[in-house]
Amino acid sequence: MKQDNLMEKIASLCKRRGFVFPNSEIYGGLQGFYDYGPLGVEMKNNLKQLWWKWFTREHENIVGIDGTIIDHPKVWEASGHVQSFVDPLSECKKCHHRFKSDDIITKTCPDCGGELTDPKNFNILMSTELGVIEGEKTRAYLRGEACQTIYLDFKNVVDSTRIKIPFGIVQIGKAFRNEVTPGNFIFRQREFEQWDLQWFTHPSEMDKWFEFWKAERMKWYQSLFNDQSRLTFYQHEKLVHYAKKAFDIQFDGREMEGIHWRQDWDLGRHSEYSGKDLTYEGYIPWIVETSGGVDRTFLFLLMDAYTEEKDRLVLKLNPKLAPYKVAVFPLVRNKEEITKKARSLYLNLKSQISCVWDDRGNIGKRYYSQDEIGTPWCVTVDYEKDSVTVRDRDTTKQERVDISQLDSYFQNKLK
Ligand code: ATP
Repeated sequence: MKQDNLMEKIASLCKRRGFVFPNSEIYGGLQGFYDYGPLGVEMKNNLKQLWWKWFTREHENIVGIDGTIIDHPKVWEASGHVQSFVDPLSECKKCHHRFKSDDIITKTCPDCGGELTDPKNFNILMSTELGVIEGEKTRAYLRGEACQTIYLDFKNVVDSTRIKIPFGIVQIGKAFRNEVTPGNFIFRQREFEQWDLQWFTHPSEMDKWFEFWKAERMKWYQSLFNDQSRLTFYQHEKLVHYAKKAFDIQFDGREMEGIHWRQDWDLGRHSEYSGKDLTYEGYIPWIVETSGGVDRTFLFLLMDAYTEEKDRLVLKLNPKLAPYKVAVFPLVRNKEEITKKARSLYLNLKSQISCVWDDRGNIGKRYYSQDEIGTPWCVTVDYEKDSVTVRDRDTTKQERVDISQLDSYFQNKLK
């Protein structure tokens, strides 16, 4: 399927079934802003929980924080964002449309053929004001990348825990960028969510940890995607001055996460700008960063899962990510004893596992509707007293399962 076509289909499915909505749609929308709907928020939460547990439970020496969106304005001077968080743009002298200079091949406007200006730099940090009295307001920034709060809390984490280098701090949180060309659905937004690990190490072990996290992160993404051949590394050739190497993990050739060699740059700069000592046992720790996009991963997972078959559309999502794990149906609608039994089974299951009830239309339509949102198992309650049928989303095969075994049946499948 052609990529643009697929993206359109996914955006349409997301809206129709309540995964993602354009923000402020009743006012005509706001470019680069999206809301997650009832199914989207479930899937996104599942994704974030998997990420969080994987770092904090399956690895040693990693703790989390949850920092603010607005930090001291000096943070963004120290980080270099005030001076250089820029996108070069060219403007058409005739229609005044602006284009990212990287995207422009000729010196003429792609929209009207007019002449373009030389590229000028535009800062993409989003600013706001603190305070209420005119003339006394302070300019502040909505964080352009979430990781800065980790550097700000580095000393507090070391002092308040017994953690020793090498160790990591993780965070999932919002970031804001005045992207010049937001688009491709939720691929490039102005408000989005990032998940970061900052791994602090002695300089002598930097190479080892960089390679370790590069491999670990790829393995993690591979565990969630069906078609692992669509996940690749991209090695950057143009590097910032403090980086020895940099890689992106890409899906279909597009960046999902960056693995960055940050060395002592961040803590060094914050130490310099704040005047505070940020050393650990006499040296400034070096940092390996893994910084990914939650929304991009969400989108790529949908692209990977989206499958058109002869007579159905199915989202082959990893069951751990699916908004609902199980749908419960009564075989027929007008038999009270079946409905009653199905309702009671549904209410029991619901406290153990994410579950949805459906008694509309016929069974075929219900299957179709659940396949489209990626529900891995559909349970049909029929005339059998002690058992039900469980239908598998991917194989469409049904099997009989004892009601008393149902809970452990699903728990085993989800392991
Ligand atoms: P790009 O080159 O696509 O602009 P970047 O290299 O600037 O991305 P980073 O600053 O390394 O991105 O941010 C880490 C991750 O945050 C990216 O890998 C991406 O998944 C996500 N991300 C960055 N910008 C956006 C955005 N505007 N919308 C959604 N996700 C984003």
